[in-house]
Amino acid sequence: MKNCFFKNIHFQVYSSNSLGFAERTHDFVKEQFPILRKVIAGKEKKDAAMGLIFASPFMSLVKFDMVKGFPYDYMHGTLLGVVKRITCCILDATRDKEYRLGTKGKPLSILCVATDNVVISERKSVDERWNLVRVSSGTDRRVRPLNTVAQWKAHEWKTWLLVWIPVLKDNIDYGVLVLLSKFTLGILLLLQDTITIETVDHSRSLLEDFCATVERIFGIEQCTFNVHILSHVATTVRNWGPLWFDTTVA
Ligand SMILES: [Zn+2]
Repeated sequence: MKNCFFKNIHFQVYSSNSLGFAERTHDFVKEQFPILRKVIAGKEKKDAAMGLIFASPFMSLVKFDMVKGFPYDYMHGTLLGVVKRITCCILDATRDKEYRLGTKGKPLSILCVATDNVVISERKSVDERWNLVRVSSGTDRRVRPLNTVAQWKAHEWKTWLLVWIPVLKDNIDYGVLVLLSKFTLGILLLLQDTITIETVDHSRSLLEDFCATVERIFGIEQCTFNVHILSHVATTVRNWGPLWFDTTVA
């Protein structure tokens, strides 16, 4: 069973469909502790404490809020999490996937008879555009070729996030591009120096749309914790401030 720390809900698999469920509160977490003791003692089922499995030492901190007290991990959750996962899906997709390279303007029936040569040529054109990308003069770090994504560092995923729309635009399905655009804009809005409440709400809407569509396009196996938690990132920014404030990614 999967749990979400922001809402009182259990998932068989992570889903965006948590709208309508009650927001979890610090008081609610505290109320689960008598039940948690019974779970630990084997007197209650594992899920009886709404996903709690042990008592965090943070609970002993006076005034610390167990739900609102933790900021979002932008580097691992977004860059090394969702951006890497979705990119690998696109680059490694088999020929029957609508999100693979070479799908632009081509119906799925044609994809099924695509040859490996088509895949190679599509990949080559993406590589060529990526190789034209230059990082800002403020950093001496370089981006590496796409065939090295397994070794990429967070700063490379950050650069890729900024340019993957123009780099991929001629090689993937329009619906996938729209999905990536919502994700990119949703994150960039939360990386600004000044963020209004309206901007936070706009980002939330974009990222919830993204989460809701990942399952349809990429499959349920890609609905991971990192994808699901995006639907709550705007809330953490509202509580803590821009995503950049506690990350080590320059
Ligand atoms: Zn959730």
